[in-house]
This record gives sequence, structure tokens and C-alpha cells, in this order.
Amino acid sequence: MATKYIFITGGVVSSLGKGVAAAGCGALLQSRGYSVHARKFDPYLNIDPGTMSPFQHGEVYVTSDGYETDLDLGYYERFLGARLTRNDSVSGGRIYWDVLNAERHGDYLGATVQMIPHVSNKIKEYISAPTDTDFVVCEIGGTVGDIEGKIFLESIRQFANDVGRKNVMFIHLTLAPYLEKSGELKTKPTQMSARELLENGIQADMLIVRTPRMLTAGERDKIGMFCNIPAKSVISGIDVDNIYKIPLAYESQHVFDIIADHFGLAHARGDMTRFERIENYLAADLPTVNVGVVGKYFNVPDAYKSLNEALFHAGIQNNVHVNIKKIDAENFIPDDCRDVDGILVPGGFGARGVDGKIAAARHARENNIPYMGICLGMQVAVIEFARNVLGIEDAGSAEFTSDCIPVIGIMADHNAENMGGTLRLGAYPCEITPDTLAHKIYGATNISERHRHRYEMDIGLEQKFAAAGLIISGRSPDGKLPEMIELKNHPFFVAGQFHPEFQSSPYTGHPMFNAFINACKKQ
Ligand code: GLN
Repeated sequence: MATKYIFITGGVVSSLGKGVAAAGCGALLQSRGYSVHARKFDPYLNIDPGTMSPFQHGEVYVTSDGYETDLDLGYYERFLGARLTRNDSVSGGRIYWDVLNAERHGDYLGATVQMIPHVSNKIKEYISAPTDTDFVVCEIGGTVGDIEGKIFLESIRQFANDVGRKNVMFIHLTLAPYLEKSGELKTKPTQMSARELLENGIQADMLIVRTPRMLTAGERDKIGMFCNIPAKSVISGIDVDNIYKIPLAYESQHVFDIIADHFGLAHARGDMTRFERIENYLAADLPTVNVGVVGKYFNVPDAYKSLNEALFHAGIQNNVHVNIKKIDAENFIPDDCRDVDGILVPGGFGARGVDGKIAAARHARENNIPYMGICLGMQVAVIEFARNVLGIEDAGSAEFTSDCIPVIGIMADHNAENMGGTLRLGAYPCEITPDTLAHKIYGATNISERHRHRYEMDIGLEQKFAAAGLIISGRSPDGKLPEMIELKNHPFFVAGQFHPEFQSSPYTGHPMFNAFINACKKQ
């Protein structure tokens, strides 16, 4: 089968959840045995999202090839189990950068360089980069009508022409606002948005209309008539309290059949058990485990997106509901932990709040409370142990002050391959020591996890730490970089220099989070 492309655009307002809608459609295809890859195009002019403020964009998500991207890519990886790379998250800025560099390089042989065909061809190149999947779902960021977005719409219009209209489907997300006063759901913005898309030469094949309640048959007829599509292809994108309910919501509206009809594929029943399982879990009356997350970015929406997801996934695996208690590291007092079953210190940068995190690690160690440390969460556990167990009073990290004994220091010679700036970014292998807690957690001795940090634990101190009960249970294959630590004589105290949350799946969880929540449950 020739690769089929589904383009998701959005109109009326931004933030309609195009990424989740795209992932939801992809999940329906997977449930019928089709393989799906995902791509995201963002018309803005930043060359990559790495330089964009996390205060505007939430967490920085890291792909396995070390690309710092926005958190939407996480939805695709989690929902679809797809493995995305730097070429699956492409901004307008990057397209222009490529084109202008090619121009300087003389690649256009003196031709006049233009939006069409040079920029549009470059966009199409990224869209059509080969995958080994049956489908590619492409989200076009922004809102129809945005100036930056025009060239992307033009490119997908051309692309449909190039590969044949039967290989391309356009799904458009819109909004039907509800007017309290008149008690009406208004369809006009949707009509206008579909028309605006049509002005760019794109006829929507399916509309997903975000609404607070299901559209009536009459409303679907009306939208269908004005937007030039059968009423059956007008879907109600109703608000749900958990994104994993979306595939089931689409399933009940026969979204797969609409997609199948468009591409000339056979109707088939899907295996939706993985989503039914989540739905049942959400509805079930289960015990709650309280996890204290000692962090400092709680005021930024979605700053801990992948972390929250991973904890949620581990709850599913353990048949408990996970309640996250946000503990502000800057004002940490041990009493903050009185009602928690486990303490998690996530990643972070800068000195602000570090003392609180160190105190939290100490509290977990001394009181036998399950502890999980992620990146900075491992570093503070090492500093804490050095200070309070080994008696190295001035132990610290080179990140915060040069006036310390750097048990966490810079490792100048780490493999430069995946490094952006001086950060160690992306997936690195880790070798786990047999018969450790880490070994039990992963059930393997060779793992790969994603990194995003500058500093490393000084491995020179290994013997000292081990003699006192803190062992390095995972390290880089060359033996130079400590990747995991754990405490002997503690029910559960484990930390990684990496970010396991980026590889957690709603269907299986992640070994480290699963084990942590299990330990909290026992607590
Ligand atoms: N700030 C620390 C470092 O750069 C930890 C980074 C993190 O937690 N992601 O090494």
C-alpha cells in the first residue's frame, strides 16, 4: 500500500487540541493493525523550539535523537508508541533557514528563489521523508488564516495533488461555541473556518467540531451542507476529562469507517482494549497513592507534563490512583511530606530550590520513604549523601557554586555526538549492574534512556559511596558516567541521571515509575 497521509489543521481559535485529535485518529488506525507515524509542522519562525521559553510552552520534550522539542511530540510518542526524530518536528524558521542556506550555497543555480516552488518544495520534502509506516499523520500548527501558515496550507494542497487525492485526507478541527443566553450551539464559526480552508484550495474531508455536548443530527446536517461534506463526516469533538478517552469517543462515532471510506480501505472492527482498560481504570474505585513531587515549576502550565503522565501510567499498572502533591522546593519543610507515600524529585536547572530538594532526599533516606530521583533528583541525592553520611560538608554541584567539593561536576569529555550546546541530550545506553534494585526494576542489564543535563556525578568517589551504602547501579558502557544510583538498606531509593518519563507508555507504564508506585503502594 502506498503511504497515506492525514493532515490535521485547525480553525476558529488556537488550542483546540489538534495534537491529541491527530493522535486519537492514529490510534484508531493502529487498532486495525495499520502502522502510523506522526509529524508536526509549526509555522512560527523560531528555528527550533529549544530557544522558546518554557514559561510559554511548558516542558521541553526530548526525542531519542536529542532534539529539544515542544511537548506535543510527547503525545504522539505516548499515544502511538511512535519514535519521532528531529525531522518530525519542523518549524517555519527551519524551512526558511534550509532554503536560505541552500541559496547561499548556490544550490538554486542562479534561479529566483521564491515561496513557490522553493519554500513549498522544502516543506513537501519534510512531509514526504520516507517512513516504514502505512500512515503518516501530519499536524499543521497554528490556526487557518495565520499569515505564517499560508505557505504550509499551500504545500499540503500541492502535496495532495502530487501524490493523488486518494492518498491524502484533510481533517479540520473547529469550535462550535455554546451561547448560554440563547441556549444555542453556534455553527457559523465552523462554516467560516471550512470556507477559509477552501480559499486555500483545501476541501476538508472530515470536521471534528469541539463542542461541550454532542452535535444533534440537525446541526451535523447544517454543518455538512455549508462545508461541502456528508453529515456523517462531521464529528463531535466533545470535551473529555482524560485524553485517553478520545479514541473511544471517536470510535463510537465511526471515525475509522470515515477514514477507511476516504482511502478505499475495508471497514474492520478495531481492538480498543487498551483504551477500554484506561477508561475502566479511571472509573474504578481504587486506593490512592500520594506522591510528593518536590519541584519549582508548578506555576508553569504543563512544565511537568511527561512526569505527570508517567505517574498516571504507573498508577494504571499498579491499580491505584496516583495523587500528586506539589511541594514547593523553595519553601520545603519535612512536614510537607507527612501525608505522602513517596517522594519524587524531578529534573531542574539553577540553584533556586536546590536546598529544599536536598532536604527532601534526606527526609526520604532517613525515614525509609520511597524515593525516586530524576536527573537533578539524582544529583541532590548524591550531594545529600556526601554531606550527611560521608561527612563531606562542602559537597555540592559545580552548577551552583565553584566554592564546593564538586561531587557533581562537569564531565568534559562525554561523547560529543548528541550534544546541543553543552547539554548531554537524547538517548544513551546504560549498563546495569546485576543483582541491584535497578536490575530488578528493568529486568535487563542493557537499557537506553534519554538525557538532558550538563553535569555528572564524579565517579572517582564510587568506592567511598559504596562503602557507606550508596551504590552506582547503572553506568555508561565506557564505565565513566554514573547513570543510576540506589541505596542499600532502604526499601526503595533509586535515581537516574536520565529522564525516564520521556519513555513512559499509557499501555505499559515505565519500569522505574511502575516500581516506584508499587513501593509507594506498599508504604
Ligand atoms: N541542572 C542539572 C544539570 O544540568 C540537572 C538537569 C536536569 O535535571 N534535567 O546537570
